[in-house]
Amino acid sequence: MKHIIVVGAGAVGLSCARAALKRGHRVTVLEQGSLPNPQAASYDQHRMIRYQYGDAEGYTRMVGEAFGAWERLWQDIDARHCVATGTFGVSLEANDEIFQSVSTFKRLGISHELMDSASAERLCPQLTLPEAAQGLYQADGGVLFADRIVDSLLAWVTRHGAQMRPHTRVAHVDTGVSRVTLADGEVVEGDALVVAAGAWLPGLMPHIPDLPTWRQAVCYVQAPAEFQADWANGPCLTDLGIGDNYALTPVDGTGLKFGSGLHRRAGAPDAAGFVAEPEEGYEVISHFAPYLRNAAAYRPIRMAVGYYVKDASAKFRVQHDGKAVVITNCDGQMFKFSALMGERVMASIDGELAASELTRWAAGER
Ligand SMILES: Cc1cc2nc3c(=O)[nH]c(=O)nc-3n(C[C@H](O)[C@H](O)[C@H](O)COP(=O)(O)OP(=O)(O)OC[C@H]3O[C@@H](n4cnc5c(N)ncnc54)[C@H](O)[C@@H]3O)c2cc1C
Repeated sequence: MKHIIVVGAGAVGLSCARAALKRGHRVTVLEQGSLPNPQAASYDQHRMIRYQYGDAEGYTRMVGEAFGAWERLWQDIDARHCVATGTFGVSLEANDEIFQSVSTFKRLGISHELMDSASAERLCPQLTLPEAAQGLYQADGGVLFADRIVDSLLAWVTRHGAQMRPHTRVAHVDTGVSRVTLADGEVVEGDALVVAAGAWLPGLMPHIPDLPTWRQAVCYVQAPAEFQADWANGPCLTDLGIGDNYALTPVDGTGLKFGSGLHRRAGAPDAAGFVAEPEEGYEVISHFAPYLRNAAAYRPIRMAVGYYVKDASAKFRVQHDGKAVVITNCDGQMFKFSALMGERVMASIDGELAASELTRWAAGER
């Protein structure tokens, strides 16, 4: 039995903690905020899981593996915090990401349906699409109820004996000896260390190069009454128009949520904070407006602000550094993989997966 120290109680840290406990290890989780921490990137009503990764075959395959890992979690917690709403992306020009996803789906044998503009509008009557648009529907993807998952993971790891330490900020990481120093000077040492500090990593491990942090504010939206049922019963949108616009459907008590890559700004959580200006909601909606029927009737309800590390590679960086495994560059993408990531990181710590293999797999290169 090893003693595993986990820094960060987001979905990744907690998934590593669960995987470690299942392997019979002793676990200590150190979290600077409360448990759960509402400022963690992992803590919002929902996150999307979808196969569409353009021509990135490694990540497309990994989504299939991720579904398997979620099934194992549902068994452990005796609940299913997901709904397969289906996912739907709109291709507006030849060779865009949706178009590339179709080729990848064909190569990997992933079921899908390609639609012309009229069929796409029948599937999503709340949308108005250019005549040349094509829609890509995939039935398995959908919504993961992120906050419920984090709450269940917290309950599970606590019940299975993890030592949970909220309001415990790690000030220094000594990877050579698997030791951390807390903000109050206390030293905690284990046999292995997992660092899953999300967007706070650059402050904690400043020697790691190239960790740009981003603020992503998403908007909970009130749809006009005539389209509320279409949103509630329809698929999540993976790509709508220009700029990575996506929508999570209001299922099982959650809200309709719009996010846009055009509303991502450079920023770090401790500097830029978690408050959003009221007009930001209208900005987010404006990126969807050209494709929404009765767009003027959409209203922002509230914004949710989160942060992540994202460099130009758009590849997860999961690396052994001495006796630590550091998980970063999670982008707006890691939630769907977090249960799987926990399993793979612990397999690597236990010597079943070479460090280089873990890194290559996480980068989508295997
Ligand atoms: C707006 C938004 C939308 C997204 N949409 C999707 C999506 O649809 N699908 C998807 O798959 N992914 C999505 N993501 C990405 C996904 O949510 C994140 O990649 C994932 O949740 C990261 O989990 P994490 O545990 O690594 O980090 P976090 O959840 O951020 O957790 C890190 C934790 O570490 C703690 N911590 C940090 N430093 C210290 C320290 N020094 N000492 C102690 N504790 C520390 C923090 O307090 C925090 O609780 C989205 C992200 C955002 C922000």
